[in-house]
Amino acid sequence: MAIKGKVSVNTENIFPIIKKFLYTDHEIFLRELISNAVDATQKLKVFASKGDAVGQMEDLKITVKLDEEKKTLTISDNGIGMTEEEIDKYINQIAFSGAEEFVEKFKDDTESANIIGHFGLGFYSSFMVADTVEIDTLSYRDEAKPAHWHCSGTTDFKITRGKRKKRGTDIILHINDDSDEFLKSYRIKELLNKYCKFLPVEIEFEDTIINDTKPLWKKSPSDLTEEDYKEFYSKLYPMAEPPLFWIHLNVDYPFNLTGVLYFPKIKKDIDPNRNKIQLYSNQVYVTDNVEDIVPEYLMLLHGVIDSPDIPLNVSRSALQADGNVKKITSHISKKVADKLNELRKADEADYEAKWANISLFVKYGMISDQKFYDRVKDICLLKTTDETYEVMDAFVDRVKGNQTDKNGTTVLLYATDAEAQYSYIHKAKDRGYDVLLMDEIIDNHFISNIEQKLEKVMLKRVDADTVHKLIEKDESNESVLSEEELTTLKTQFEAVVNNEKFDVQTAVSTVEDDFLTLTRSEWERRMSEMGSIGGMAMFGAMPEKYTVSVNTNHPLAKKVLELDDDHRSVLINNALDLAKLQQNLLKGKDLDAFIKRQTAALDV
Ligand code: ADP
Repeated sequence: MAIKGKVSVNTENIFPIIKKFLYTDHEIFLRELISNAVDATQKLKVFASKGDAVGQMEDLKITVKLDEEKKTLTISDNGIGMTEEEIDKYINQIAFSGAEEFVEKFKDDTESANIIGHFGLGFYSSFMVADTVEIDTLSYRDEAKPAHWHCSGTTDFKITRGKRKKRGTDIILHINDDSDEFLKSYRIKELLNKYCKFLPVEIEFEDTIINDTKPLWKKSPSDLTEEDYKEFYSKLYPMAEPPLFWIHLNVDYPFNLTGVLYFPKIKKDIDPNRNKIQLYSNQVYVTDNVEDIVPEYLMLLHGVIDSPDIPLNVSRSALQADGNVKKITSHISKKVADKLNELRKADEADYEAKWANISLFVKYGMISDQKFYDRVKDICLLKTTDETYEVMDAFVDRVKGNQTDKNGTTVLLYATDAEAQYSYIHKAKDRGYDVLLMDEIIDNHFISNIEQKLEKVMLKRVDADTVHKLIEKDESNESVLSEEELTTLKTQFEAVVNNEKFDVQTAVSTVEDDFLTLTRSEWERRMSEMGSIGGMAMFGAMPEKYTVSVNTNHPLAKKVLELDDDHRSVLINNALDLAKLQQNLLKGKDLDAFIKRQTAALDV
């Protein structure tokens, strides 16, 4: 284990600490400085609206300028500016002690500082990338004198009379050698695009305004068209396919939250790391790491949430425990459920058409959040192998009559692969059963989840048993063979099959039913699937076991009894190969031998 030394923060070593830590997040200095510049312009607007004389109110603007030769990056605004006294108060004292406090808080915890250490270090974050920083400013106040501040990364600040003629502030960073990436135009563009794209004041870099000062989520939904939402989506995610639908969030009380969440078309190969939800605080980009704010099942959504009420410089656990964050999380989840209900109500066919793209996260939500389950259970669709859709409860109610076993449990049959389980599906359908298609990655979990929540309902895959035993009822077929013949037949099969993978059982079925059927018990299969998913190693080693059901009423059963040992063995082996084929189990050497035998038989 590495031993961490404790550094006590004092005014002498604060600069080296600022420079060193937060090493992966150096780039945030630009966001911090531009946020200050935005604040300075917004304050001016407030003062003006209160009737304060603020001088000339030309267009408020922030300009970012690069000088590669002088190795400087300058952030200029025409906001309120500062007087000498204000610099001393806000920069030398308040901001400095703010930075000190911030460093003190995170010096041993660089990880959480990296993840959520946003906002707080403020102005002094500039020393992560610059050795010397200058402030050149003129306050909006009448008779204010220009002021100049200079600091070369020691605690000696120098304030002198400045030369500035126009109201506002220039922050001049003399970029250090380790940070020369920030002297590259493409890098600055990249950062502006990441953090400042939706700031409320115009930001100019290289003669272009880089931001949209009134982003869509700040507008009123009634002023927006469908096209607006789609256009904004493609602005956020230029390469993405158009979204399915969206929710405009707009809450004032008891917390402030705005934003737009889009439902993307979810493909089979979902990549939750693409097109993530972006978190903003008053239009300043904070992060796209929103896992503690947005419920996990909604992480597949795209879009923007903006809330100044989410605490940003606290630890993960504090964030999760925060009352506002909890309320925001449950608000988002409720809105999503409401939207889904609304969509189904408005147009059932359209909702059905969208289902394939949303079922994954609806199911995920139902599994992980009981409240969400309750809100969407009436609009959760089940899909059958005939590509029809039905609401879960209605489906259960409809099949109850025919699919309830002798113990009163309703058995829902399902297939996970309509092609591979074709013959099993059709046998079930011939009996008048409905077969669901559960072919999504989440369905394993979804199945056990609904079994827990629905009363007296269980799910069975169509090949879990022979069709007449899938749903056990009080009915039996009359056996053509005598008790004695049944026992003999079983022994004869066991002598040939003789394989630990296959258990033989005799089944009295109908004449039309297949001679042999290979099945795998629902319980055994689930256990072994759980084992292979991992986590439950004790089931992982479980061998695959199948049951060979011999339909003793099939004409071939009688034939087996009549044959001599050699012919019987040939018949049983051939029949078993066919049954294996039906289960996709005939492979390798056995398949090769089977094909050779069949090929020889072609030559008549
Ligand atoms: P914070 O922004 O969290 O208050 P900072 O360290 O970033 O902390 O800034 C400290 C203070 O310095 C600000 O509150 C503000 O009063 C002043 N300040 C910083 N940048 C500017 C600016 N561009 N124009 C006017 N005042 C500024």
